[in-house]
Amino acid sequence: MAKTHKITLIPGDGIGPEVSGAVVKIVEAAGAATGVAFEWHRYAAGAEAFETTGEYIPKALYDSIEENRVALKGPVTTPIGGGFSSINVALRQKFELFANFRPVKSLPGLKTNYPNIDLIIVRENMEDLYAGLEHVVVPGVVQALKIITEKGSTRIAKFAFDYARKHGRKKIHAIHKANIMKLSDGLFLQCCRAVAEGFPEVSYAEHIVDNTCMQLVMNPYQYDILLTENLYGDILSDLCSAFVGGLGLVPGANLGTECAIFEAVHGSAPDIAGKDMANPTALLQSAVLMLHHIGESATANRVQDALEQVYREGKTLTKDVGGTSGTKAFADEVLQAMEMSQTATT
Ligand code: NAD
Repeated sequence: MAKTHKITLIPGDGIGPEVSGAVVKIVEAAGAATGVAFEWHRYAAGAEAFETTGEYIPKALYDSIEENRVALKGPVTTPIGGGFSSINVALRQKFELFANFRPVKSLPGLKTNYPNIDLIIVRENMEDLYAGLEHVVVPGVVQALKIITEKGSTRIAKFAFDYARKHGRKKIHAIHKANIMKLSDGLFLQCCRAVAEGFPEVSYAEHIVDNTCMQLVMNPYQYDILLTENLYGDILSDLCSAFVGGLGLVPGANLGTECAIFEAVHGSAPDIAGKDMANPTALLQSAVLMLHHIGESATANRVQDALEQVYREGKTLTKDVGGTSGTKAFADEVLQAMEMSQTATT
């Protein structure tokens, strides 16, 4: 009998419903072929949820994540310069998802200016300017508080070094601006250095964030794992996504000790929403991370293999990576690649 996993699904808004619809179909098919079933518990979040429930994050959604411990999440729009606070940040805070893990890896066959990229961004996910502590001091003067703690910095550094040890990664760069923010980024570095001492097999270096941007564009191959505070990690993630073909490709995992929420690096992309133009690869690769996380690596590999096959062939790709196909046609191609491999092995 098929094993059933209960997963909280937040389709999100903007391109969220399109990409999550495609991903669910593909994951279901991979599951069916590998003896794994999924029960998706769907919830709206953000403006859409507010319209129907009066809450931006309905209590039932919180309860569902608490119970299932795993969620797959599409992007949710955050109003700019006012309105409600970020749903994405609120979920990370609520479930103490302190580590944001973002692998940036080239897909086979996809031509970019930077071939064979294999970088990982490990971003602290709860502190920094994302603590949301802003206030008007006097009219015309606003203060935003950057929170960096020894606990948070040590925990994320430990996560990065543990990952490096477990997966044979060789080098970690802590990214900072401690020349200016001597106390906050200084504390972050002190914690990274202390953790690094316990991992002599992983080389440790520090780069200032502005220099890092230049170094990345000149020669991204010098980096292996970038260990960052919250804001620098957010910015560097979008920069690094460009090496492998853009935001349509890069997945992510928000990890804590109890729960995990898997979501792409990209946002709701209002400029292409509802036009069958979004690339579902980033959320699909996030689902692959999720499948590994829940111990279903055979299903994960099945999805990843089919995805890579479609990129290798390069016939049915979305516009963001130089193709002419839509979201649905691309998803169908991945499904077909999966079926073909099934036929080949039976
Ligand atoms: P964005 O990531 O939504 O889009 C940036 C650019 O990348 C756009 O040109 C978009 O068309 C393109 N793009 C993004 N994803 C794509 C995909 N899958 N396929 C093809 N092209 C893709 O960033 P933005 O426009 O700055 O933000 C839009 C909204 O999303 C904002 O409200 C922001 O707060 C929110 N956001 C949410 C999350 C999240 O839910 N975790 C993350 C980032 C941004």
